[in-house]
Amino acid sequence: MNEHDIAEGFASTFAGLNWDAQRLSIYAKTATDVERALQSGKRTLEDFKALISPAAEPYLEQIAQQSAFLTRQRFGHTLGMYLPLYLSNLCANVCSYCGFSMDNRIKRKTLTLDEVEAECRAIKTMGFDSILLVTGEHETKVGMDYFRQVLPVVKRYFSYLAMEVQPLQSHDYAELKALGLDAVMVYQETYHPVTYARHHLRGKKADFGYRLQTPDRLARAGIDKIGLGALIGLEDWRTDSLYVAAHLEYLERHYWQSRYSISFPRLRPCAGNTEIKSIMEDKHLVQLICAYRLFNPSVELSLSTRESPWLRDNLLPLGVTALSAASSTQPGGYANPEPALEQFSISDERSVVEVAKTVKQAGFEVVWKDWDRRYSGV
Ligand code: SF4
Repeated sequence: MNEHDIAEGFASTFAGLNWDAQRLSIYAKTATDVERALQSGKRTLEDFKALISPAAEPYLEQIAQQSAFLTRQRFGHTLGMYLPLYLSNLCANVCSYCGFSMDNRIKRKTLTLDEVEAECRAIKTMGFDSILLVTGEHETKVGMDYFRQVLPVVKRYFSYLAMEVQPLQSHDYAELKALGLDAVMVYQETYHPVTYARHHLRGKKADFGYRLQTPDRLARAGIDKIGLGALIGLEDWRTDSLYVAAHLEYLERHYWQSRYSISFPRLRPCAGNTEIKSIMEDKHLVQLICAYRLFNPSVELSLSTRESPWLRDNLLPLGVTALSAASSTQPGGYANPEPALEQFSISDERSVVEVAKTVKQAGFEVVWKDWDRRYSGV
């Protein structure tokens, strides 16, 4: 298959979904639809729409109870811990909402291999064994050549290695998998093409279709876990979340060998300062997380330090399966903090010890390691 042919893969499913019709359908759901969804054994996308609709708000308590039950049934009383390691804030794209955007005049930095190693040592002493490597999207300076050098260094320290970098080709993912890559997060930001174009003004990220096909390329390369999500705030959050659910359903049906996770990043203040079109209140984030769980009992749901300590603590029992803690969004920020380089400000600034203590007090086992490198084939 030609990787640039967006008529295949998820793009053909996507082409059959009309944004306005889907949006209207979500907002037209009734209490009867919600009650049917709550009683359903295997939930469909129509049920998911009902669960995220305004009509479901009076049922939040019931939705949350079912979500908590399904999560404990599938994942037990555990919460996985991971940490993002920012390797570079160089970026060749202009995105309206991001502090790393090429047009922002900030100090740029890409970690040398020695600096990467210093970060790994600092993170390892914090207890983490699962790492998420993050970069801006700069293919020439932070591309495959860089990744080929960095992955073997990082893999010496961590059992599970995830990346959130620019979309790559299938053969690149396959090569990185051989170097220890386990998971890739690639968020579509918004599934509304016109809004997408409004916020992705220059660079390769402006290619909506290429990004949309990335999870297909990842699955074909045999990547163990693929992370999906929309940046909440760019467009109507309910409709974007429906597209995420449709994407997940498509991927699970076609590539059952991979696992999937969903994140729900809400727009945070940054050096760019973009207008937030769709405000998501805290109660809506709870509704969305629980709706994802009812729709798909086995998908991993990940919550970052973008959210406040209060909200994160209250969400612990309801549906999430993985948490980051004590995150720094600046390259070199663990070994040598320097706030001027950060991508966005975090909200939960507690130490990892404090977060782990809260998780344990809530009755959960903190899981630092749930994977062994011998299963990564390296
Ligand atoms: S969102 Fe990603 S691609 Fe866009 S400017 Fe930020 S780092 Fe670059």
